[in-house]
Amino acid sequence: MTHIDCRQLRPDPKDGRISAAPKSDRDPADAADAADTLDAVVVGAGLSGLYQLHRLRQLGLAAVILEAGADLGGTWYWNRYPGARCDIESLSYSYSFSPELDQEWEWSERYASQPEILRYIHHVADRFDLRRDIVLRTRVTRAAYDEDRHLWQLYTDTGRAVTTRFLILATGCMSTPQAPRIPGAGSFAGAIHHTARWPREEVSFTGKRIAVIGTGSSGVQVIPAIAQEAAALTVLQRTPAYVLPAHNRPLHPAELSEFKVTYPEFRQAQRRSRGGTVFEPPTRSALEADELERTAAYEAAWDTGFLNGMLRTYTDILTDEKANETAAEFVRSKIRSIVADPVTAELLCPRFPFATKRPCLGTDYYATYNLPHVSLVDLRTTPIERITPRGIRTSDREHELDMIVLATGFDALTGSQLAIDIVGKGGATLQKRWADGPRNYLGLVSADFPNLFTILGPLSPSVLTNIAVALEQQIDWITDCIAHLRHNGLTEIDATAQAEAHWVASTAELAGRTLYPSVDSWYTGANIPGKPHTFLAYTGGLDRYRKECDAAARDGYTGFTLSAAH
Ligand code: NAP
Repeated sequence: MTHIDCRQLRPDPKDGRISAAPKSDRDPADAADAADTLDAVVVGAGLSGLYQLHRLRQLGLAAVILEAGADLGGTWYWNRYPGARCDIESLSYSYSFSPELDQEWEWSERYASQPEILRYIHHVADRFDLRRDIVLRTRVTRAAYDEDRHLWQLYTDTGRAVTTRFLILATGCMSTPQAPRIPGAGSFAGAIHHTARWPREEVSFTGKRIAVIGTGSSGVQVIPAIAQEAAALTVLQRTPAYVLPAHNRPLHPAELSEFKVTYPEFRQAQRRSRGGTVFEPPTRSALEADELERTAAYEAAWDTGFLNGMLRTYTDILTDEKANETAAEFVRSKIRSIVADPVTAELLCPRFPFATKRPCLGTDYYATYNLPHVSLVDLRTTPIERITPRGIRTSDREHELDMIVLATGFDALTGSQLAIDIVGKGGATLQKRWADGPRNYLGLVSADFPNLFTILGPLSPSVLTNIAVALEQQIDWITDCIAHLRHNGLTEIDATAQAEAHWVASTAELAGRTLYPSVDSWYTGANIPGKPHTFLAYTGGLDRYRKECDAAARDGYTGFTLSAAH
């Protein structure tokens, strides 16, 4: 096993930070190889990991990113399926930490496509000179805490071992793909692709018979894209989604210039907001409005093309079943008006409360079902029995296919942390501690796993927000926390069991005030066989969460214990 050797560390004469060797003459992997004890290791080179590395460098820390993928980008590296696109506006779903970056970068569309977001991420990595401390193709497999020295020992799939004071999991909230175990999958003569592990080389659908399994956000995006090329497309649907129109469009240079004048104020407003997007909060119940007024409000929201446009019309769509049903029925009426075949339209109508599973933003999604070569199979009435060499056998027939696309989602929020064998104080393992659901304090630190921070992880606002804003908030907090420890000669921060228990209970209580937990979804862990059913995110809003995090820090890191190694 290669071990990191930090004896070559020396301060960079230019910026004073510690680096392993002159920037020009070393491979990025040297950044890890050069130290036997790093100050910090960040796992994951997506949006979170890159910003965290940038912030750690500002503290003068010796830090590296270890990334499993062959290149940067995280989610936007892996999810390169046709049609992949962000469902938060590009001017909003981007870093806010650099006003210069905001002014320089020119988004070309209202909702950025995956290739454009990946270009942006690469631009950021170059602009802030981050690549030299990113080690690619290196998956962290195990992390064990040394209680005496207050250090994490990391093991990787390349045989490289790394010791670090702080370990920061920037592993994303949707990075462990979920693929159903369908009997016979190995016998299929064609290709099977998961949207979240899409090949880097081009995949042609031309002249082919394709099946897509899954109709969440990924399916909703890939289905119209495949339909444009394929000879025949069969969508195998278990649960229909609520799909709102994106109304995506190009952004014109004049419009961008105008927007950029007030970008700093916009960024401030994002930070103060409940979900990382800026809008006027609703003031009335949906049930206070009459039907005419409500329909007009929902029509206006539908026309905005915002993912959460409809949620912003009334105060109680996520808290009152009757209010929710008014929004749900409005979307169903839209589906019936777009989809020509009434049987298909009914199958596409969701029956669970609106937005209790994350809604989807689509382009031509429902209209795709009007194309003559697109068909919808209802897996509730005709479930999949097996995959055969020629296709998929459902209970009523065999569907002959050349390719199967799995858009079946992720082991959300906890999957990527639990994929690492993490051993904390007293031999505690994260797998056992989280056996009944994730436990932590402030969504940041789990008791007995000191110096281990999680970004966009469970029991934080994460997936219920514009993550670009949420990640900066958490990373700024973590960076300030590490600065505080170093300034005070401290080497360890741990959450107390009491603070953790309180946080777990209060996040569950907050979620219980909403309709979210009433529906099985990836928010509740229900999409993963054997995963405990608990509501996985903090529903109190990013604004309230920020206040809680700031208050804990301001009051001397209440709920944490801070100490120095002997
Ligand atoms: P998802 O929302 O979990 O959807 C998975 C789909 O696969 C569901 O329709 C599910 O049906 C179906 N499925 C799973 N296992 C199945 C099985 N064994 N047989 C038949 N169907 C099965 O996953 P996703 O679409 O990848 O999206 C996950 C999240 O990632 C989104 O909610 C969003 O937060 C993020 N995302 C965002 C974007 C974007 O920004 N535009 C794009 C993609 C993803 P059931 O509902 O019945 O389980």
